[in-house]
Amino acid sequence: MTRERKYKKRHCKYCESKVDFIDYKDINALKFSLSERFKIMPRRLTGNCKKHQELVATAIKRARQAALIPYIVDRKNVVESPFDSIK
Ligand SMILES: [Zn+2]
Repeated sequence: MTRERKYKKRHCKYCESKVDFIDYKDINALKFSLSERFKIMPRRLTGNCKKHQELVATAIKRARQAALIPYIVDRKNVVESPFDSIK
C-alpha cells in the first residue's frame, strides 16, 4: 500500500529560476520568502533549499537596513498587499 503524498513535492523557486545571487534591491525576488508582515518565511513553508534560504535571509536583512522593507509592521498598518505601499 502506498500512501499518497499529502503535499506537493517542494521546489525551490530560486533554483527553478536559476538564481545564484539575490540582490537586496530586488524586492520582487524577496517577495516569495516574505510573509505579509514582512517576516522571513521559514524554509519548511517556502520549500527553499538551504543555500537559497540563506541568500534570501541575508538579502532581506540588507533590504531592511536600506529601509526597503520595514522591520516590523504594526497591526494597524497591516494591509492586504503591503508591497503596494513601498513603491
Ligand atoms: Zn534553491
